[in-house]
Amino acid sequence: MYKTVTFEIAGICNAKCPWCVTGNRSLLESGYPSSFINIEDFEKAIDRLIEFKLIGDKTVIILYNWGEPLIHPQFNAILKILNSRNIAFSISTNASKPVKVERGLLSQLREVSISMPGFSQKSYDRIHRFKFKKILRNIDVILENFRKAGFIGDVRVSYHLYQFNLGEMQAAKDFCDQRQIEFYPYVAYLNDFNLTSSYFNDSLPYETLKKLSKDLLLYYIEETIALAPKNYVCPQYDMLTIDEGCNVLTCCVVPKDHAEYSIGSLFDLSPEEIKKLKVSQKICKECLSSGQAYLAHNAPCPNFILEQKRSKIPNFIKRNIPEPLKLFIKKLLGQD
Ligand code: SF4
Ligand code: SF4
Repeated sequence: MYKTVTFEIAGICNAKCPWCVTGNRSLLESGYPSSFINIEDFEKAIDRLIEFKLIGDKTVIILYNWGEPLIHPQFNAILKILNSRNIAFSISTNASKPVKVERGLLSQLREVSISMPGFSQKSYDRIHRFKFKKILRNIDVILENFRKAGFIGDVRVSYHLYQFNLGEMQAAKDFCDQRQIEFYPYVAYLNDFNLTSSYFNDSLPYETLKKLSKDLLLYYIEETIALAPKNYVCPQYDMLTIDEGCNVLTCCVVPKDHAEYSIGSLFDLSPEEIKKLKVSQKICKECLSSGQAYLAHNAPCPNFILEQKRSKIPNFIKRNIPEPLKLFIKKLLGQD
């Protein structure tokens, strides 16, 4: 049984982030294939995952990968399917659409993460390309709507650190503190496997490199890769990723135009095939040996934030005690 399943319900995003595989493709209008999941397929897929015992009461379904879940035109219908089967889920949004959710449909929603590329119109003009003040208003409306619909879980702002928004971090943190939202900044990275590969093998076009050098913080790449353990096991092996066409993916990183993007349709594969194929893709060898896999899962976060997070967890939990006991203590402390 997987604890984490990423299920893309919208293979489309309305933001235009230049360093994200989805935003970049919408900018180029390249006809990159994308669509919303069909409701009947979603229901069939969830039931198949339950039948295969690939998901259960310990699973959290992450309703996004490279798309914006709240723009799905039948978002409430998606929630009804999850709710009727008692499946826990989480959402990440760019807060561009203040959706209304029917009462009672969000009791299984564990976490809402709001992606934020800075705290000014200037920063939003560079990345998401939305009206900044409208986004701030939307955040309040979305959270109010969600609370009314039964959401009692955590909210965090994932603040993407770029060179140009470092000075806006305090204002963003104040905004979060006023609303008791967790503020979580971490370094924005190249959210595009092909771009990252080109960066690694020095084949990025000069103009892209020049643009990138004005946006992203890249000082940490070599030092982070150097920290990768020799036998690093990619965390994606313990996760399942499914796209809006119900294809089982190698992982959440490999892009649609790569030959090893998918291992096949969820409706054709057996559970044994899924488990076997997911960990035997050729691309993983290159991804692990170049350090890309480690880098993708270890984006740096400012020390003062890490310290705050650490200080919230009592020392005895950090020690090497058995997992079930750790979970039990966390539950008691309301940290599960
Ligand atoms: S980074 Fe997120 S918000 Fe930006 S284009 Fe990609 S999916 Fe959309
Ligand atoms: S090693 Fe790379 S390609 Fe393979 S599952 Fe991990 S992130 Fe994906």
